[in-house]
Amino acid sequence: MTKSYPTQESEHDLETGSIKSDDAVGKGEGAGLIGQHEPCSPKLPATGRAGQAVFEYAPAPESRSIVHLQSSYGLFIDGAFVEPLDGKAYKTENPATEELLAEIAAAGTADVDLAVEAAGRAQKTVWGPMSGVERAKYLFRIARIIQERSRELAVLESLDNGKPIRESRDVDVPLAAAHFFYYAGWADKLEYAGFGPDPQPLGVAGQVIPWNFPLMMAAWKLAPALAAGNTCVLKPATTTPLTALLLAEIIQQADLPPGVVNVLTGAGSVAGAALVAHPGIDKVAFTGSTEIGKDLQRALAGTGKHLTLELGGKAANIVFEDAPLDQAVEGIVNGIFFNQGEVCCAGSRLLVQESIAETVVEKLKRRLATLRVGDPLDKNTDLGAINNAAQLDKIRELAAAGEAEGAVRWSPACSLPERGYWFPPTVFTGVSQAHRIAQEEIFGPVLSVLTFRTPEEAVAKANNTVYGLSAGVWTEKGSRILWMAGQLRAGVVWANSFNRFDPSSPFGGYRESGFGREGGRPGLAAYLDV
Ligand code: NAD
Repeated sequence: MTKSYPTQESEHDLETGSIKSDDAVGKGEGAGLIGQHEPCSPKLPATGRAGQAVFEYAPAPESRSIVHLQSSYGLFIDGAFVEPLDGKAYKTENPATEELLAEIAAAGTADVDLAVEAAGRAQKTVWGPMSGVERAKYLFRIARIIQERSRELAVLESLDNGKPIRESRDVDVPLAAAHFFYYAGWADKLEYAGFGPDPQPLGVAGQVIPWNFPLMMAAWKLAPALAAGNTCVLKPATTTPLTALLLAEIIQQADLPPGVVNVLTGAGSVAGAALVAHPGIDKVAFTGSTEIGKDLQRALAGTGKHLTLELGGKAANIVFEDAPLDQAVEGIVNGIFFNQGEVCCAGSRLLVQESIAETVVEKLKRRLATLRVGDPLDKNTDLGAINNAAQLDKIRELAAAGEAEGAVRWSPACSLPERGYWFPPTVFTGVSQAHRIAQEEIFGPVLSVLTFRTPEEAVAKANNTVYGLSAGVWTEKGSRILWMAGQLRAGVVWANSFNRFDPSSPFGGYRESGFGREGGRPGLAAYLDV
């Protein structure tokens, strides 16, 4: 049976299978168990509406048997897994099911002292004096083991984070390995990198990362730091410690000298705060919210510590009337629904030229009705679970604000699993620039659609944000792409694509999106005394 698309909030009711209100999201009526629920796509005949082919997929779950979860995990300090000195621990859960995965050590300040001391010792006695050629061998080894254990890493990442296995398998893990390969290549070429004849490492890096790309962020932080001769103390996000701990195991397997990499799990306000404030830390690299980034900048002012901040974003994905529209729709979907929209550079504001706005929104809705939301371990899943309850609350709050401020909310027909943290793909039309959903980072699968008439207006609207991390431009004209790239206040501008990453390509922001670059040669400079 073919169902019509609800186009207004009033049409969102359970009769059509759509989401009516936040109460129906995640734990609402009609929600089924994970693996048994219907995908977002309504059941349609094989030739669907407008001749569009729609397929029914049988469940294709990836086995979790490759992952050997321990009941509890310690801290990784000086080459060994150890209990925290005060014995504190917390639990990490699977956000798709709320199932307890493991108990995780919560580092206290005394553990931070031990880890920083170990890193300082290793930097002075082993890693700093080691030749770049030798350091490169270790990095290549880590990269190869990541590849060898890629399935294990991907399944573990999807279990702990909630992201679809398709993404952890095809994006997170390969990119993590690629970062180690790439920076391994730099380790013995630092004197030719344009930083002078003998560039020196900064010393010990304290690195704090978020939960949206747990393994990939760890690789982005560790690989350039190690290649440049620094040692590291890494603090993963509280809700996603497992792949960082598996990476610590891989680092042991690669025989890295003790103390070169240390991993401290625990609360940001305790372990994270103590780490960045520690006098033995020479460089702080932080990826996370703008709010905490500002706190860190204030706390570190005048200490002489080097600092790079990768913070939030509110990117504009700009579609001109001459763009290849079907391709652009794929780019819009990838821009905001990749990783459930929990992406700092997500294309969360769609700026579409007025003349094609209706067509693009119609095509987009049709495409969204085919997205499959559900079990992250199912290989057909497009959107997985939201990482944690607090983030789900934030998404709900901002979506409710969008409605309250007068924008029109739409989600495809969709039943969501009963347990876990879920939010359907959502599009807001009728959005004005003053709306909170056009200004604030939602960090979820929610797209705000605005329109423009001229390139100048597109630029003005795109730049009307406190952030400046990324942007996308869709047009057939090369000259317009170049002109727009020059005008947009964003660290990364994608042309006729979105969310493309490569270790050789620098990534980072302007304004409240932070400063410093990760990736490429600039990513090395962040860890050298240049
Ligand atoms: P968050 O700022 O709450 O936490 C990030 C990390 O900082 C976590 O490990 C946390 O434990 C730690 N932390 C928290 N308080 C701390 C403190 N006082 N001192 C030291 N460390 C502390 O952010 P989050 O919710 O984990 O991540 C989401 C945010 O990260 C979003 O705003 C997103 O845009 C941003 N992000 C940015 C990038 C980028 O490259 N620009 C990439 C991913 C995520």
